[in-house]
Amino acid sequence: MAVIVAASKNKHKIEEIEAITKKFGMNVIPRNEAGVPDEIEIEEDGETFEENSLKKARGIMEICGQTTIADDSGLMVDYLGGAPGVYSARFAGEDGNDEKNNQKLIHLLEEVAPKEKTAKFVSVITLIFPDGETIVARGECPGRIIDQPVGENGFGYDPLFVPDGYNKTFAQLTAEEKNQISHRALALQELERQLLARKAGK
Ligand code: IMP
Repeated sequence: MAVIVAASKNKHKIEEIEAITKKFGMNVIPRNEAGVPDEIEIEEDGETFEENSLKKARGIMEICGQTTIADDSGLMVDYLGGAPGVYSARFAGEDGNDEKNNQKLIHLLEEVAPKEKTAKFVSVITLIFPDGETIVARGECPGRIIDQPVGENGFGYDPLFVPDGYNKTFAQLTAEEKNQISHRALALQELERQLLARKAGK
C-alpha cells in the first residue's frame, strides 16, 4: 500500500481523508510520523483553495521528502458573495474557533430568507510526489445554511449545513454517510480518477 503523508494537523480532516483513501489503496500517515515537527505551520495566504492546497502539500513534502496529500477547504455562502471561502477557518478571527465561526455565520444570515441561504462546501486536494509532480482534484457539495446548529458529529460548519437531497445537517449524518457525499469525498474520487488515468498512461 502506498504511504502518503497528511499535510493537515486537523484530526477530523485526517480521519475523513484516511477513511476514504483506504478504499483507494493508500495508507495515510500523520505528518509527525513522517518527522515533520509540530511547530511547522505552512502559511495559508493564497486567494484560492488551489493555491493554499498546493502550498501546504509542497511545504510538507519538502520537509519530509515523501508523497504528501493536502486538503484546502471551506464553505462558500452565495448570499455572502462566496464568503467565508478560503477564510473559513479564521472567519471569526485568528483566535476564533468552530463555535465562534458558526455564531458569526448565523448572525450574518439572521434576516435572510431560507431559500436565499444556499451554499456549498469546496475541497481542493493536492497530491505531490517527491519529484514535484502534482495532481490536483476539486470537489464541491451543494446545500443550504440553517438558522441554528443541529447535530453532534463532524466539525466546523457541519451543524449548520444541510446538503442538497437531505433533511439532516452534515453533523447529523454518520461519518460513513458524510464520507459518501462530502466535498472531500468527491475531491478524493476525482483524485482516484486522475491517478488511474496517470497509471494507464505510464
Ligand atoms: P483549512 O484548514 O484552511 O482548509 O480550513 C478549512 C475550514 O473550512 C475548517 O476549519 C472549517 O471551518 C471549514 N470546513 C472545511 N471542510 C469542512 C467540513 O467538512 N465540515 C465543516 N467545516 C468544514
